[in-house]
Amino acid sequence: MSKTISILPENIANQIAAGEVILRPSSVVKELIENSVDANSKNIQLIIKDSGKTLVQIIDDGIGMSSRDLKLSFQRHATSKIKNFEDLFTIKSKGFRGEALASIASIATIEATSRRKKDEIGKLLKISGSKIELLEDCVCSKGTSISVKNLFYNVPARRNFLKSDNVELRHIIDEFHRVALAHPEICFTFFQNNIELFKLPISSLQKRIINIFSPKIQEKLVPIEEKTSVAKISGFIIKPDFSKKSRGQQFFFVNNRFIKSSFLNHSVVSAYEGLLSDGYFPGYFIFLEIDPKMIDINVHPTKTEIKFEDDQNLFAILKATVKHSLGMFQVLPSIDFDKDPGLDIPYEYVKKSPVEPPIEVNSSFNPFKEENEIEKISRHSWENIYSKFDSKDSAYISEKELKLNLSQPPKVFQLFKKYIITSLRSGLLIINQQRAHQRVLYEKFLKSITNQKTASQELIFPKKIKLSKKEFVLFEEYQKNLNALGFKIKLSGLNLEIKSAPSFFNHDNLEDIITDLFSMIEEGNFNGFSKVDFLSKALSNVASIKPGRILTVKEQQILVDDLFACKEFLTCPFSHQIFVTLSKEELDEKLN
Ligand code: ADP
Ligand code: MG
Repeated sequence: MSKTISILPENIANQIAAGEVILRPSSVVKELIENSVDANSKNIQLIIKDSGKTLVQIIDDGIGMSSRDLKLSFQRHATSKIKNFEDLFTIKSKGFRGEALASIASIATIEATSRRKKDEIGKLLKISGSKIELLEDCVCSKGTSISVKNLFYNVPARRNFLKSDNVELRHIIDEFHRVALAHPEICFTFFQNNIELFKLPISSLQKRIINIFSPKIQEKLVPIEEKTSVAKISGFIIKPDFSKKSRGQQFFFVNNRFIKSSFLNHSVVSAYEGLLSDGYFPGYFIFLEIDPKMIDINVHPTKTEIKFEDDQNLFAILKATVKHSLGMFQVLPSIDFDKDPGLDIPYEYVKKSPVEPPIEVNSSFNPFKEENEIEKISRHSWENIYSKFDSKDSAYISEKELKLNLSQPPKVFQLFKKYIITSLRSGLLIINQQRAHQRVLYEKFLKSITNQKTASQELIFPKKIKLSKKEFVLFEEYQKNLNALGFKIKLSGLNLEIKSAPSFFNHDNLEDIITDLFSMIEEGNFNGFSKVDFLSKALSNVASIKPGRILTVKEQQILVDDLFACKEFLTCPFSHQIFVTLSKEELDEKLN
């Protein structure tokens, strides 16, 4: 072999580049549609024959190209989207490498027409194997049409490597879904062998999802929404009961670009923990808006993988956001307050067997402590989500409505020492403080049964109680369950010593709480509830904030936030209504 170096001819260099970018007809579809989106098109038509092996054509009504640009666009490194290295970090367009058209032109026959709005006459360009065969004036409508025929005609290995028409069509449909989901503001149509496969009018994202997948998907969608300094998150997740055995409905978009990310997927999956059966995958359509400076999209030639600067926080925020929405939707079908109390256990916990939580010492414990940033963020979004379900058209919420202001938590005040009043955008909420706290505690107890991380707090001064004989018998019966809930209790004779207790409620009057608990157990009939559930209910009752207790504004706020972070916030563990609402309409009717 000669060791003399030579520069590869451009068409060969292009063919090599094409090997990376254009793997199959669906890659052509992706590149062409993305160019049309970048050209500000409002209508994009995709026409294919024989799953793209014979023809892939895109017709758009975008900005079009001048004669010069049309010719240049098929050259390597020809792009109008970046001018210098710095532009890479502020990129808004889909393309920027200036590689796609040159690659496609090196392995196919191309016919392109284009006309800008300001030009009267358009241009027709024909290229085959990177060689321009024709460039002439033509009459065409505003925008660009590019036909790619005989794909891989000069790369037999590639052509032979293509799969059956069905498989290739599936790849094309996948690419089509990805762009169409990211751009509900564009009308797309898609024809295969003269049959219309999709017609997607301009619509909301929710409607776009429905138009693509089927009207049945509507009831399965739960909106998600979060705004933080790291990212703005929006979109929909699919209710866990509708999860699938395939990953076909998993979509992440970062700045409107479809991406694959196993770490983001992992974050969502962890939010669904306990809600999915083995072998099932959650469905989601999640849109992240991130400052382009904080990501690197330049990792992969086909740009479906990206690097995030702040991935730890992003992971946590996404998980919290998804979890929160999952919690919200679970209560929606149960607006009926008279429902069967047996259904009261958030089902995440039902099937799990109790685990004894580990002991953790936290001497600086304060039940109304400051939360960390992420917890705070996930909590304060409840008003947005709540008001979304509250509004008449839950299908579409505009940006403007989502004026999330983290520095201003909801305004609250206490009335008659037993109600907390707070406002929603849609009106007023009057909350029964004890029932709200019961609900909060109940869910925390249930969680501590199943979540090994839930801490139990060692008491600096263990509390001592002398039991009656009857209490002694009851205690023996319930000792195991109390352990599972985070209590560590030593018994010697009839003397009980509480060494540690769950960390999420006030221990000041722990003796009373335990004594009250025994009375409740004594009287209790638990109608088929498991012992541990009965105990959680009883404890949530005895440890809850009672009427007559004055709460600071901070405590009120935390209680309201905690309530709406619950899986079920409408009723207390004993199926009583927690709050009433007074809507603006109701007020207007009375006072206007
Ligand atoms: P890139 O998209 O990375 O810039 P391409 O090879 O895909 O590279 O396209 C090259 C250039 O051709 C684009 O930068 C754009 O200026 C122009 N172009 C391609 N398709 C269209 C279109 N449908 N409408 C208008 N201009 C287009
Ligand atoms: Mg491009």
